[in-house]
Amino acid sequence: MTTTNASTDEALSLQKGAAAEVDFDVIGIGAGFAGLALIHYVRELGLSVRIFDRASDIGGTWTWNRYPGAATDSESYYYCLAFSKELLQEWSWTKRYPGWEETHRYFHFIADKCQMRPHIQLDTEIVEARYLDGQGRWQITTRSGETYTCKYFVSGMGMISEPMIPKIEGMDSFRGPLFHSSRWPQEGLDYAGKRIGIIGAGATTVQMLPVVAETAGSVTVFQRTPNYVLPAMQKPMTPEWEKEIKADYDAVIAKCRNHVFGMAFDSPVGRNAVDTPHEERQRIFEENWTGSFRWVFETFDDLLTSPEANRMASEFIVAKMKERVDDPEIAKLLSPSFDDYPLFAKRPPLDHGYFEAFNRDNVRLVDIKDREPLVEITETGIRTTREHYEFDIIVLATGFKAYTGALEAFPIRGSSGKTLAETWKTVSESIMGVCVANFPNMFIVTGPQAPFANLPTSIEQNVIWISRCIAKMEREGFDVFKPRLEAQREWTAHTADIHGQTLMAEGGKVHSWMMGANRQDKPPRVLIYFGGANNYYDRLDQSADQGFPELEFEKLSG
Ligand code: NAP
Repeated sequence: MTTTNASTDEALSLQKGAAAEVDFDVIGIGAGFAGLALIHYVRELGLSVRIFDRASDIGGTWTWNRYPGAATDSESYYYCLAFSKELLQEWSWTKRYPGWEETHRYFHFIADKCQMRPHIQLDTEIVEARYLDGQGRWQITTRSGETYTCKYFVSGMGMISEPMIPKIEGMDSFRGPLFHSSRWPQEGLDYAGKRIGIIGAGATTVQMLPVVAETAGSVTVFQRTPNYVLPAMQKPMTPEWEKEIKADYDAVIAKCRNHVFGMAFDSPVGRNAVDTPHEERQRIFEENWTGSFRWVFETFDDLLTSPEANRMASEFIVAKMKERVDDPEIAKLLSPSFDDYPLFAKRPPLDHGYFEAFNRDNVRLVDIKDREPLVEITETGIRTTREHYEFDIIVLATGFKAYTGALEAFPIRGSSGKTLAETWKTVSESIMGVCVANFPNMFIVTGPQAPFANLPTSIEQNVIWISRCIAKMEREGFDVFKPRLEAQREWTAHTADIHGQTLMAEGGKVHSWMMGANRQDKPPRVLIYFGGANNYYDRLDQSADQGFPELEFEKLSG
């Protein structure tokens, strides 16, 4: 198989260090994109690897998020791993945005083709990970009490995976099914004809509502903050389109690698909205209204940096949204305003008929921000300050504890004995989102202070860096790497500095998960590197080329 593995050359002449007596060289948690990428790159180094996942299937986010309508928001043909040119050619997507079923089939295709299954242990929840100081190894404990040791411990648990369950009075009293959107029951939930209440109006609800409304008796959406919603404009992958992509897949992958959001977009475009006359600007906005986040990047280069340009874009989007809703009152409630928050201070959802769903007789929107805040969940429904709504099913589409949630959900103890949760109480610091000071021999795939981008691109770039680091360790006979505190301080300051200059910093005002401002248990913080995913990937490559100056390497005696 032809691979594009940056570490292939480094697979030669690996030595075992003094701390090599372990169950596996590498243990990873999470059998999604990160887990599969890790298996590929670590195996190329000739090392042993085991991936644990508490789910019963591979697929990561696509195993958990199976609510009706769940689909990718990245376009299919670059929402994939790029390590094998053959696999890129062999797999065929059927649509611009595949549903979870199709993405899930893709995971099985990769795992089967690459014979990855022997490296994956499903139905196994990890309840503790502990660094054994002085031994250069990690010990991992499963829910059933088994322990495994490894030299390198890697989190591939995902940056949007740990549900955010809000504290709402009476939550336990509801008699019907009540669950988080990422825990949609796979069997036995027939919602046809039922009255459904959905709390939350983010990307998940935007995908879910049009599908659920088709067969539910009624659907009521409880919305706190309206979103700037961009159109998805789904379309089939035609043979001609597929041929065009596959004629030069390298170019697609290179585009992702060199794009600020890791997407195969044609940007920068070399023009700014603020310098473009009104009519010309509207024409460009209109002509590019063809679906996906492309619109934000392929119209003008200043939409996310200039408040004036952002206002222009925000107003254009809102006008488009309003056109599709029959009732002007509902349209108004669904519309954000630049004066409340700018475009991208919250991650904009992509829609597949969200607004038209509100034109149905069986769909209702409840404004819980100003008109009637939530009071409690009762045995039979949801009470606001004005009304009691009766439901058969309640869905909490309330989002996730992004970037750090999965890493704080069970104790991961570093060399000081402190857990990551304790370490990140007020600031979630890291080195490029991949390593954390006082957590030797541990890597995180897309951890806090990594960029927010097309995830398979970021994940693979992280795993390449990780595998190059492991290759160096093994080739040079090191037992331990220690992330340097100065490097962590430098990255944290750099990330905060950039964050402060972007419009995304306004997310704190509107509970944006991109700043952890949606959590009730922690203050908002800088969680994302917004200096451009492409620049971040360059920085990873530079670091590896220079021998990982952010890390201190050690040999243990004996
Ligand atoms: P989200 O965007 O964080 O939205 C959560 C919703 O729940 C918001 O409307 C929020 O209101 C509301 N909410 C939270 N706590 C609440 C409370 N205590 N009371 C009332 N309302 C509350 O979550 P999400 O929709 O699950 O999406 C999260 C992210 O997952 C997305 O931005 C995206 O990155 C990813 N995602 C991706 C895809 C895809 O690519 N296909 C699909 C779905 C999700 P406020 O806005 O007022 O806080």
